[in-house]
Amino acid sequence: MKIDQDIILASYTTFKIGGPARFFCVVKDQFDALQAFEFAREKHLKTFVLGGGSNILVSDEGFDGLVIRVVNKGIEVLSESDDNVLLKVASGEVWDEVVKFAVTNNWWGIENLSHIPGSTGAIAVQNVGAYGQEAGNVLEAVTVFNKDTHQILSLSSDSCGFGYRKSIFNSSEKGKYIIFDITFNLAKNSHANLEYRDLKTRFGGKNPSLADVRQAVIEIRNKKFPFPTEAIKGNAGSFFKNPVLTADEYLDLQTKITVEFGQFSSDELGKKKFSDNGQIKIPAAFLIEICGLKNLQSGGAAINKNQPLVIINADGKATAKDVLDLAEKVRQSVREKTGVELKFEPELIGF
Ligand SMILES: Cc1cc2nc3c(=O)[nH]c(=O)nc-3n(C[C@H](O)[C@H](O)[C@H](O)COP(=O)(O)OP(=O)(O)OC[C@H]3O[C@@H](n4cnc5c(N)ncnc54)[C@H](O)[C@@H]3O)c2cc1C
Repeated sequence: MKIDQDIILASYTTFKIGGPARFFCVVKDQFDALQAFEFAREKHLKTFVLGGGSNILVSDEGFDGLVIRVVNKGIEVLSESDDNVLLKVASGEVWDEVVKFAVTNNWWGIENLSHIPGSTGAIAVQNVGAYGQEAGNVLEAVTVFNKDTHQILSLSSDSCGFGYRKSIFNSSEKGKYIIFDITFNLAKNSHANLEYRDLKTRFGGKNPSLADVRQAVIEIRNKKFPFPTEAIKGNAGSFFKNPVLTADEYLDLQTKITVEFGQFSSDELGKKKFSDNGQIKIPAAFLIEICGLKNLQSGGAAINKNQPLVIINADGKATAKDVLDLAEKVRQSVREKTGVELKFEPELIGF
């Protein structure tokens, strides 16, 4: 396995931002992984596991360690019954191609997660979610490589600690594993999950096919999320997570918003709040909008007007500092005007 030096990371991220990795390698199996971690151990290097680079912001100075990019491929049906199929997918497979494959085969469960960039392995890391579905709901097991013991383990869905944008892989066990593959439990006879308002409105009581749902999700997303291609401005999807509040915190927020912006905005907040697992969630986009931050810019970074949760590399030359300065301004203004502390969604690398 080859280990390169001083590889500029910008082109490995959807933000198109970031300085060099001191060392960089590509792994396709556990033997490569073993070599990579041994190399890092001998040289006392930090390591970072990279997928499609769609949920990270790399600093302008880069990463002073070893970046390990996972590129293994393969999709396999492990077992099939009249009702279900267990589908094992290698981490390096492009996630949206996997969704397309499942929809084409008439397997239900991941269609609402259409058109999310990145690799399959990373789906488990932040328990990717969209349009009323989360990866953890259909995930059966994850095969991981432990960087310290060099063992390959199979973790059940229950041991992954899934929550909103959360798993053991981005919290308690962060940096410990390379995820090599994920097994999904998909349904053969099911129906559309139209819990999310935009989808419900679109189908108005009808029972759409899998292909209809995927098409609708793609169309709705395209209006809000600039799917990173060469022609589209760099971004990492939502930069801010939706705040999760207790009932008391929600009442405080209502009071603050009424004082700061008037009753109308407070009523709007009531319509926009949504409940998830018994918790109250507030769309961060709404808070950013009422705080008047939609047109904010910092250097080459700007708020995306169609979906203010997204920060874009507006002129193609934005630095990581531009993005962070902008994100901090948003966070500070929202904190001052609403009392809510926004959290960043992409992982910050090399800061
Ligand atoms: C336009 C756009 C829209 C988006 N929409 C959504 C959305 O609706 N919902 C949502 O949840 N996310 C969304 N995202 C965020 C992002 O696409 C997902 O989080 C995606 O799963 C990240 O995949 P990646 O391969 O690019 O991961 P990377 O950005 O490369 O890495 C992200 C994290 O996963 C870790 N990681 C990656 N691969 C592995 C592996 N094999 N083993 C161990 N750790 C690994 C990395 O170390 C890092 O901590 C969006 C992003 C963009 C740009």
